[in-house]
Amino acid sequence: MSDLNQVHYSEKVKESMEAVILSAPGELLVKEVATPVPGPSEVLVHVKCTTICGTDIEIIKGSHLPRWPRKFPAILGHEWSGEIVALGPMTEASNFKIGDHVAGTSHAGCGACRSCLTGRYNLCLNYGNDSTGHRQYGHVSQGTYAEYVVNNIRSLHKMPEELPFEFGSAVDPVGCGLWTVKRASVNPGDTVVVLGSGPIGVFAYECAKALGAGRVIVVGGGKRLDILREQGAEVVNYREGKVPEKINDLTRGEKAQVVLETAGTTESFKWTVDCAGKGARIAITGIPDNIPDLAWKRVVLEEMDIAGVRANPNCGDEVISLIENNRIQVRPYITHSFPLREYQRAHDVFVAREDGALLVNLYPGT
Ligand SMILES: [Zn+2]
Ligand SMILES: [Zn+2]
Repeated sequence: MSDLNQVHYSEKVKESMEAVILSAPGELLVKEVATPVPGPSEVLVHVKCTTICGTDIEIIKGSHLPRWPRKFPAILGHEWSGEIVALGPMTEASNFKIGDHVAGTSHAGCGACRSCLTGRYNLCLNYGNDSTGHRQYGHVSQGTYAEYVVNNIRSLHKMPEELPFEFGSAVDPVGCGLWTVKRASVNPGDTVVVLGSGPIGVFAYECAKALGAGRVIVVGGGKRLDILREQGAEVVNYREGKVPEKINDLTRGEKAQVVLETAGTTESFKWTVDCAGKGARIAITGIPDNIPDLAWKRVVLEEMDIAGVRANPNCGDEVISLIENNRIQVRPYITHSFPLREYQRAHDVFVAREDGALLVNLYPGT
């Protein structure tokens, strides 16, 4: 019988690993650091693919200090996939084994608080309190801009072996799109307006279609709109102005039944209510620096529902099924790939939105 208190390693694990280290706001360097060791209910995963998120860019700039990261040096990254190479103590009896392919999501709740027990572990009452088991990878805990990462099995989703790691790396952002759509309760045939054409916007578009929307109009800019148009989206270029008026015209004065805000700008925040029709549902995942006044009288008298959205609770397995069964598309939105050590170049491409950059993927150890 094997010892439950031991870490079980596959033979391939190295003692040190390549990682992108954030040593201070704006300061990134590639370094060799010690490979982390999994604890109880945790596994060590060899990261095969990891994707840049807009939140990473803000964390690097220092916009979220002192919340994220809590200390320097830090390793960011929370959209990723990989192969399990070690099981922590007491983890052998779980559904996960060495060699499994997994997709990661950023939140692991404590599992015991009121939020966690009602499935809302993204709102864990013990957020940031390590000793309770809570983790948010790439935010308050080590992330995946590295060859290896330790994750609690609660934040992992098993992938079919034939699914490419690139698709697994999209599970977290697709999940954010799906949760945004679910928070707004899209009904069959609804007209949905998506504000923002970044990674969460394009996956909100894909998921709204998959969940039965009749018409999905994406408001965005640049080459990203060409990519969306090729996928069948109706698009509105916000740079040409008059967004609410255009939505009003396109819907013959009815406006949208559902508005999904993913851009996080002051203007787009205001457009949520301006593009919404009577009885509309609005879900908001972006947070602008300056919160504008909303048309609150219309919100009240037209019975609009407004929902906040945080991450992607319980969406991982659903997303894998949607991808595996071709209900949503991921590949058209993968625009760039780099070795992890070229992180800075990848970062700059994403920030400049070169060639409509959407999913910019990184490959550790290549
Ligand atoms: Zn993200
Ligand atoms: Zn909790």
